[in-house]
Amino acid sequence: MPTFSKSLVWFRRDLRMFDHAALFHALRQSREVYCVFIFDRAILDSLPRRDRRVEFILDSVIELNQELRRKGGRLIVRHADATKEIPALAEQLGVDAVFVNRDYEPHAVSRDATVADELRVAGRQLLAFKDQVIFETDEVLSLAGKPFSVFTPYKNAWLKKLHLAGDDFFLKAYPVETYCTRLADPPPLLCGDMPALADMGFEKTNLSALGMPTGMSGAETLLKEFGSRVDQYHISRDFPAVKGPSYLSMHLRFGTVSIRGLARKAVHAMRLQGCSGSATWLSELIWRDFYFMILHFHPHVAERCFKPEYDAIRWESGERAQILFNAWRTGATGYPLVDAAMAQLNQTGYMHNRLRMVTASFLIKDLGIDWRSGERYFAERLNDFDLSANNGGWQWAASSGCDAQPYFRIFNPITQSQKFDAEGKFIRRYLPQLSALPDKHVHAPWLAPASVLRQAGLVLGRDYPLPVIQHDAARQATLIRYAVVKKSSVTALDE
Ligand code: FAD
Repeated sequence: MPTFSKSLVWFRRDLRMFDHAALFHALRQSREVYCVFIFDRAILDSLPRRDRRVEFILDSVIELNQELRRKGGRLIVRHADATKEIPALAEQLGVDAVFVNRDYEPHAVSRDATVADELRVAGRQLLAFKDQVIFETDEVLSLAGKPFSVFTPYKNAWLKKLHLAGDDFFLKAYPVETYCTRLADPPPLLCGDMPALADMGFEKTNLSALGMPTGMSGAETLLKEFGSRVDQYHISRDFPAVKGPSYLSMHLRFGTVSIRGLARKAVHAMRLQGCSGSATWLSELIWRDFYFMILHFHPHVAERCFKPEYDAIRWESGERAQILFNAWRTGATGYPLVDAAMAQLNQTGYMHNRLRMVTASFLIKDLGIDWRSGERYFAERLNDFDLSANNGGWQWAASSGCDAQPYFRIFNPITQSQKFDAEGKFIRRYLPQLSALPDKHVHAPWLAPASVLRQAGLVLGRDYPLPVIQHDAARQATLIRYAVVKKSSVTALDE
């Protein structure tokens, strides 16, 4: 016998109708279930007016609504302030409870607390479920009951917990279909029309021209494609010119795919075929849980360094720093791999993982600019922007994070380029002005003999910038800058 007469499922970063914790629990516990998605003004108002994420969400919401309608329900879609709209809608629909999947970002935690308070005053409940991660908050702790701050022991404990429970216990899909007959069609007056991008003050982007598939069906397409190359993932994932990774991060961000489904696939492939590619990929999914856990236990990382002693570092400031930051942001540093990577980000909203590490390291350790400036820029531009993973990645590059690279490990943008884009295929894709340069010189054009530049029809300073800094000098400056952190002298590593 269901507990509730009527409930409301509030979709947020979980835009699917299969294997969905909140939807499953609402359907199981209620006679009638309504569904809503809010384009939250509190988030949207601060975004650029052309934003692929908003377009992706809208497309995904349209597909979600179509699926819900096929099953007898319908998605109410509003463009409003969620903290006001959810309690008001709950009142209009006369529901007993609102079901959500937990969102761990600080602003979302406080938004949900506000909504829960409002609902409680009106005699309603907000019921929240784990859905976005395999293990949340304090579910994976050390033997001493403490949160981990190093990835490998966390991963081992994560895997142990998974296996001890029986591999499929934590990865089982929520069988939403079983109770779908309880989906309810809301009164037409409350439905309204699906807003268009322009209604919300946004313009169309190049999302569809990029061929980025949206919604549950888009995620399924990408997953299927990735299935045919996952066994090579551990080898191919580091080479930006190769189709190596899954490209599923935006779908994971907005929940058009289920993390349980992905982890299940990886675990099964490992078990059945001993697939190294799947094992490495599962590790990446565990990094995702790890950074969510770090943000939960150490919310200060959103503003400050994980390791407080790194807050003493003095970053470059003033006009020169602004010029250097602009060169980085616009892909005009004169270092081809860095510039091609920033072009990829600016043109598509995606950046390959290896290049996120290279560009972040370049901004911090070659240009001496505060990691927070880069973090903010990525947050604005990345389709898959996720506070926990982005902050984790930036603090890793800055050496200020948990389990970060040591501060004296400084990526060399030329050798990284030679190693991971040896033939310059990725560079040429995004910097066509360098296409005629021989492979040998495409990584550092300013070192090419004048005759080679002439033959390639390239004038440095006109067709492509001269380097804005010299890496060797910048590396020395970084070691001095970081001396406030560790006074002891350490041999510098240039990678
Ligand atoms: P795949 O290689 O196919 O990996 C599968 C999934 O695992 C990813 O979709 C992602 O959800 C997760 N994952 C992979 N690597 C990491 C990682 N290091 N940390 C956490 N999760 C990971 N990832 C984001 O999802 N959002 C971000 O805002 C983000 N910002 C980053 C910033 C920096 C400076 C760095 C170094 C990394 C950042 N990452 C971020 C991690 C990683 O670069 C992306 O997850 C990955 O490139 C996404 O592409 P993919 O889906 O093809 O990845």
